[in-house]
Amino acid sequence: MKETVAFSKNSANVFFHILTKCNLACRHCYINPEQHGHQTLALETIKAWLKPFAAQSRKANVIFLGGEPTLHPDLAAAIKYARQLGYASITVDTNGYLFHDILAKVTPDDVDFFSFSLDGATARTNDRLRGKGSFDQCIRGIKATVAKGFATSLIYTVSRANASELDRMPALLQQLGVERFFIQVIGLRGRSAGGGLSTVAGDNPQLTRAEWLERVPPVARAAADRGLTVTYPKVFLESDEIFECAGLVADNYFIFPNGRVYRCPLCEDFPVHSLRFETDRLVAADRLNERDFFKLSIPEGCVMNRLIQPDNIDAGPGVQGVTRIACCLLKEELQPG
Ligand code: SF4
Ligand code: SF4
Repeated sequence: MKETVAFSKNSANVFFHILTKCNLACRHCYINPEQHGHQTLALETIKAWLKPFAAQSRKANVIFLGGEPTLHPDLAAAIKYARQLGYASITVDTNGYLFHDILAKVTPDDVDFFSFSLDGATARTNDRLRGKGSFDQCIRGIKATVAKGFATSLIYTVSRANASELDRMPALLQQLGVERFFIQVIGLRGRSAGGGLSTVAGDNPQLTRAEWLERVPPVARAAADRGLTVTYPKVFLESDEIFECAGLVADNYFIFPNGRVYRCPLCEDFPVHSLRFETDRLVAADRLNERDFFKLSIPEGCVMNRLIQPDNIDAGPGVQGVTRIACCLLKEELQPG
């Protein structure tokens, strides 16, 4: 049974970019060091920045990201500190290279999920997007992680360059022992917006609404039938569905090494963050910022999709309230079976 996951006020999700450095240069990478910083955060800073979110929510989840977070020499210590602070779940998003022998430094009690990124069911397709050798290394990384008893998930970012292989993923993931499957829509930001994808995906790398509905939900169903929990973005709303902005009704924080803290991922390419770390204190950022825009109501749904990233998702025909753009954080979830 497909279910739209309601935004939760009872839990906070902390997406913590602890560095922006990466060993890969994926064509669709959204990391923007000019806006996000070039720093690798010191362990003491990571600890200080983890504290306020654990203190304010009884059920905070942290996702360590980069760049490639396993390039951070103190990732294991950061994970253990997050556990000590009482974070309800700890996830590490990785490209699979698993640097600094991270699997030997943490246990399945420390990490709830290692989440791998793969953008093709074959090396040919994945490596055109993520770099030569990245498919084989990611598969090796998944196998090593599963063999050590960790739970794993996989993120597949759908674009015109890899949509044709999406239906091969459920069998591959089942065979690898991956437990959760996250299907993402390509955002036209970062390198994608700068044309990074165009040579492999054409001028418009995003699927149309019709293509999305034709391809993605059936693959999600097939993956659930194979025992995976599947999450994919809602993307479009029908006229009888209620629009909500996660910036107003949920508790998500996107932290970058330069101290900016956003509530909306679509805003991350601009200095409109609503919070920032001033040394180790979390403070409100100057107005105007993203919070001032969340309240604006437009017929197309998500205001930032029109205002800040107007080239992103196209609402398509029937923009007058028939097809609207859902919050990019609104997800559908399918349970196994
Ligand atoms: S692995 Fe992630 S952070 Fe690194 S280049 Fe690719 S998308 Fe960007
Ligand atoms: S994506 Fe749109 S709806 Fe979602 S938090 Fe951002 S502004 Fe709000």
